Amino acid sequence: VFDILLHSALMVTVDPAAGNIPGGALAIHGGTIEKVWQPAPGEALPEARETIDLAGNLLMPGLVNAHTHLPMTLFRGLADDLPLMSWLNEHIFPAEARHISPESAHLGARLACAEMLLSGTTTCCDGYFLASAVAAAVTEAGMRAVLGQGVIDFPAPGVSDPSRNVVHAVEFVDAWQARSPLLRPSIFCHSPYTCSARTLQAAKKAAANTGVLFQIHTAETRAEAEQCRAEHGCSPVRYLQRLGLLDEGTLLVHAVWLDGEDIHIVADSGAAIAHCPQSNMKLGSGVAPLPDFVAAGIAVGLGTDGCASNNDLDLFGEMDTAAKLHKVQRLNPTVMNAAEVVFMATQGGGRALGLGDCIGSLTPGKQADLIVIDLNQPHLTPLYHPASHLVYAATGADVRDVMVAGHWQVRNRRLLGMDVELLMQTAAAQGRMISSSGRPT
Ligand SMILES: [Zn+2]
Repeated sequence: VFDILLHSALMVTVDPAAGNIPGGALAIHGGTIEKVWQPAPGEALPEARETIDLAGNLLMPGLVNAHTHLPMTLFRGLADDLPLMSWLNEHIFPAEARHISPESAHLGARLACAEMLLSGTTTCCDGYFLASAVAAAVTEAGMRAVLGQGVIDFPAPGVSDPSRNVVHAVEFVDAWQARSPLLRPSIFCHSPYTCSARTLQAAKKAAANTGVLFQIHTAETRAEAEQCRAEHGCSPVRYLQRLGLLDEGTLLVHAVWLDGEDIHIVADSGAAIAHCPQSNMKLGSGVAPLPDFVAAGIAVGLGTDGCASNNDLDLFGEMDTAAKLHKVQRLNPTVMNAAEVVFMATQGGGRALGLGDCIGSLTPGKQADLIVIDLNQPHLTPLYHPASHLVYAATGADVRDVMVAGHWQVRNRRLLGMDVELLMQTAAAQGRMISSSGRPT
């Protein structure tokens, strides 16, 4: 007897061997996908404790957000339309110094989890200071996550003495390494320009020793690439390579300003990339050479980045942008087709996070992380190609049900484990406090 049986769905497995399965069935036991198949007409379905008829719905793996800063939901819309450096130095870093505490980080992360689950994201890869507060929020929400403790060479929330930044990160990793099956700790260096070579190498070494993912914003803006060339005589990617930071345990975030040789270096190293098109557009950072990453065989996931630079966590919107941005930049509508983008938002993200065997497709043996999309809506009718609707027509609001590791977290567009009304009231009160303290000077 299975725990849960889902049937009669239009299944988008994102498993190349299985493809799309109309009228598909999926059986779950102990949080794991046990069986995926297309029942023959009249075939009796196996017994399960819970059987759900998903006729008229699309069933697919939960989306993977490969780059977030969850507590930044509290700064959504606080400072927009600014270049990265003045946005960071004049607005975001001061706001964080004033308003980010373990309590507010927890609140912001809870709000982020509510938004992500309701819009079909079941896994996120985060980097923030006070990662323990984020980890508590994510665990309470029942989401899967890779969570990086932030490392930066100046005083940050929770790390007043920057000389202890890597020590803090290692303490976080040790504390959360085996605490929850849904959570993997990680170490997140803010960037090559806010961390010294010594800090970067110490952080990477600590990540490698503990077997956790090392994340770093890299080559986000042209100014960063130029500064790196002036200071170190090479591109940011070559600088990281020279420091020994590139291997299959490293996730490069943004990777906008990479040349052909940089791309080869990343591909040969086995490092992965988190592509964040909306954040790169909003901050005017540039267009990452995504089609070249894919051609080089680099594992690429799709990320929203923090809410202050996007400004939402809806991966459906991000898929739409990722598919279109590269077409307009290359003046070629055939690049980044819908199926490739769906792959990136699921399997690609799983691979980039080192969770490729565990999530990202509806495949027997993988975790039962899945979402149900209500197809019975004007903007999704008629339907020819499921991937097309997922990328170009659907939004996060079309997600009806969400399951993580065999547990329903959203049913009929309602969160089961959280009081959203109360959460929004608390977040709004926090927002009033942030706004009454005025714009940072
Ligand atoms: Zn970021």
